[in-house]
Amino acid sequence: MTKMHRQSLLAYGQPLCETVVDRPAPRGSEVLVRVERCGVCHSDLHLQDGYFALGGDKRLDITKDRALPFTLGHEIAGMIESAGEQADGAIVGRRVAIYPWIGCGVCAACRAGEENLCSAHRHLGIAVDGGYASHVLVPHPRYLLDYEPLSADFAGPLMCSGLTAYSALKHLGERASRGPVLLVGLGGVGMMGLALARTMFREPPIVADIDAEKRKAALAAGAAQAIDPADPQARRAVLAATGGVVAACDFVGSEKSLQFSTGVLARGGKVVVTGLLGGNFSIAAAMIAIKAMTIEGTLTGTLAEARELLELARSGKITPIPTHDRPLNEAQAALDELRAGRVVGRTVLSA
Ligand SMILES: [Zn+2]
Ligand SMILES: [Zn+2]
Repeated sequence: MTKMHRQSLLAYGQPLCETVVDRPAPRGSEVLVRVERCGVCHSDLHLQDGYFALGGDKRLDITKDRALPFTLGHEIAGMIESAGEQADGAIVGRRVAIYPWIGCGVCAACRAGEENLCSAHRHLGIAVDGGYASHVLVPHPRYLLDYEPLSADFAGPLMCSGLTAYSALKHLGERASRGPVLLVGLGGVGMMGLALARTMFREPPIVADIDAEKRKAALAAGAAQAIDPADPQARRAVLAATGGVVAACDFVGSEKSLQFSTGVLARGGKVVVTGLLGGNFSIAAAMIAIKAMTIEGTLTGTLAEARELLELARSGKITPIPTHDRPLNEAQAALDELRAGRVVGRTVLSA
């Protein structure tokens, strides 16, 4: 029997271990993809811990609905190895990025095309075994997206950080055309947001980050202006430059970042929040109405958005993020480095 190798979580808070199981035979609409690359994501650290730190002593338990051993990894690019008899279009040898945010297909969110928000989801590497493996089973070929001529290194992470940034920018709607958008936080998602905003919007965005190096990198990448939100004059500087921001993305999601991004809004302005840093945010309740303010959260993105994003990337309009490859059996070392903050760009595992 042919085997598949995985780096699996056997217990929460413990290092990953190699597990070897029989390679699944795809049935019905299922497709078996041989993993070429799988990105190592910050959220994998939380999954390994089994909780999200919400700030203070508060924790969000995320151990439910997942059987151990479990295989992490949701930023997957690979090659179709075999397919069930109803997997139309799943041609063996086709190179594909996998949309991992797979829903139940029947709930209200799924029927609205928002499988990423499904309440009974089957998200790969989150609820169902993912891509820290030689192979991954995908329930239907519709989740397989052509990515060439991009590299597999670029295509895998596009399905997470890239999609998150893209969806956040899309949720700004027509407000994004009324003036420069503000992007708060220039980590991986924020820098991707900057690259996308440069191609999606007429005006270059204003960016904010407390790290001077990141501000410098953002200016080099085409930001109109880079603000240090820790500077007491920062709010005034943004208001002077814009007359109030109508559209902002908060890629940090902390008390301070939300105070800043809501504090610079014009009347009718909107902040889309993707960040998960944590802490509590409070606001004078009347200000929501007085400023006609919208605060909206987004979580990854839809399959339709993933298709749009890949088309945009395949047309060569997005600069790839720096990546470096590591072999699959170094998955734990890659997670350790990420946890220690020693990673620049994306680490990508190669099976
Ligand atoms: Zn991710
Ligand atoms: Zn659903």
